[in-house]
Amino acid sequence: MKTAIINIGQIVSGDIQATLASGDAILMEGENLTKVGQISEKDIENSDIVIDAGGAVAIPGLIDSHVHITFGDFTPRQNTVGYLQSYLHGGVTTSISASEVHVPGRPKDPDGVKALAVAAKKCFESYRPGGMRVHAGSLILEPGMTIADYQDVLSKGVWLAKAGFGAVKSASDYIPMVSEAREAGLFTTLHTGGASIPGSFPITGEDLININPHVSFHINGGPVSMEDKYFEIVARDTEIAMQVCTAGNLRTTILCAEMARKHDAFERFLIATDTPTGSGIMPLGLIYTISQIASLADFDVPALIAAATGNVAKCYGLNSGFLKAGCDADVVLIDAPLGGTQNDALAALKNGDPCAIGAVITAGVPRFVGRSNNTPPTIREIKVTKSNIMNMFQG
Ligand SMILES: [Zn+2]
Repeated sequence: MKTAIINIGQIVSGDIQATLASGDAILMEGENLTKVGQISEKDIENSDIVIDAGGAVAIPGLIDSHVHITFGDFTPRQNTVGYLQSYLHGGVTTSISASEVHVPGRPKDPDGVKALAVAAKKCFESYRPGGMRVHAGSLILEPGMTIADYQDVLSKGVWLAKAGFGAVKSASDYIPMVSEAREAGLFTTLHTGGASIPGSFPITGEDLININPHVSFHINGGPVSMEDKYFEIVARDTEIAMQVCTAGNLRTTILCAEMARKHDAFERFLIATDTPTGSGIMPLGLIYTISQIASLADFDVPALIAAATGNVAKCYGLNSGFLKAGCDADVVLIDAPLGGTQNDALAALKNGDPCAIGAVITAGVPRFVGRSNNTPPTIREIKVTKSNIMNMFQG
């Protein structure tokens, strides 16, 4: 299937090195982007679906790198079904599991947690709730695990590992475990900050540096933040990716962004939600955090969009997150919300408003065009002007 988007007002690339791309159109073939910027009359003619963006802004589909996946489109933490589909209406086209800790009665022995990660990974390989791609299956590190366990799950396709929340007794026990998991080839993530739920313990800034994971989960607190001085130390002296989450401390989110920029480490600055949790289900979480940082501090909106798209893709090694030929065809059209004071999506976000979402396309397939279930309407008209298949994609 070929899908074209025409009359785009501005293209946000997702690339922190060059945050805007020139041109006004996008072409997708199958599950990939084939042209970004200019497309020909022939391309439009040969497309099965043509979407007229009406001057709205195109951004890469957002990637939430901290979602508490379980099984299916269900969260036991807030007893809700359909939340992933709802997140897609918030512009999130990819979710990455922060480990399946919320599965009721989840196992804590090495065999059990390995089986849990493998099962979760395989359950989401072809299951796309609402069209969302889900990278599930994050191995929870538990006492007694060895390099052979890490190699075993890797051979079954699991590539994510999470430290924090296990039966591990103290933060220092994680130092050898994370180092071995990394050595085996797993991509390691670490709960950072205060304790989040009964039975867990805090991970301090000092612990974070000593444990040295690939990603510091909710470095701004999940939900309670570590000491301020460590934001500069992590940005300046380590290679750890700094994931800030909506369900955390907003003041230290901004502090972290400023330290990342000051020490030329902004490509390691990632925006995620850390939901569903005690803080709830937040389909617009990424949009809110982008607009809060942009409006309360001196940051460009396209750079903050990169922090929730291309930066995440680069850090996790994904093929999405960029509006670039060859990347996954995950595109979101955003605009100023009806009734606001601003005239386009980027100005609205800078003003502290959420943007309106007018279309979400994943794997080259429009999931809805016209209006999101979760945002105000767009001020521009975004519509399907041609469809050779029996669907007009009205959300
Ligand atoms: Zn979490």
